[in-house]
Amino acid sequence: MSKVAPELHSLLNAQINNEMTASYNYLAMSAWFENTPYGGFAQWMLAQSQEETTHAMKFYHFLIDRGAKVELAAISTPRADFSSPLEVFETSLNQEEQVTTSIHQLYNMAEMHRDHESKNLLNWFLDEQVEEEKAVQDMIDRLRLVGDNPLGLLQLDQEAAQRSPLIDTTTHEGN
Ligand code: MG
Repeated sequence: MSKVAPELHSLLNAQINNEMTASYNYLAMSAWFENTPYGGFAQWMLAQSQEETTHAMKFYHFLIDRGAKVELAAISTPRADFSSPLEVFETSLNQEEQVTTSIHQLYNMAEMHRDHESKNLLNWFLDEQVEEEKAVQDMIDRLRLVGDNPLGLLQLDQEAAQRSPLIDTTTHEGN
């Protein structure tokens, strides 16, 4: 028996899709960077993509734990072409702001239904969104600062490479 109100249930299912869409969009950004000299940014975006999948899985398991049905929906084709690293990170910030808005809508709905367990889950996401937006905004600020300077761009690329993906997907061998 589901312990989640129907309206909240459908928003939680939609959030699985929002997070998986974000994951897929970041994967497309990573793929775009792979065909540029910026391998570090490609790695950053791959790590980000994997993180978004773990976000989707938090909602997935929450629904299961609360006895509510998981309903997966189609994911749209991600944007594949960008003009510069700055444009990719600006697109990323825009996406994170949309995700934050959807978390706010979920939180409002959880409050309306006095669903304390959902609010507890969503509190984690509120903190996470503050961190995500800050990390992307910091990179945007520094990309704007270096402009077209190749040395500056490569320096930022190296910094981005410090972030490692959760799972190594680079091997072609089986497990
Ligand atoms: Mg997320």
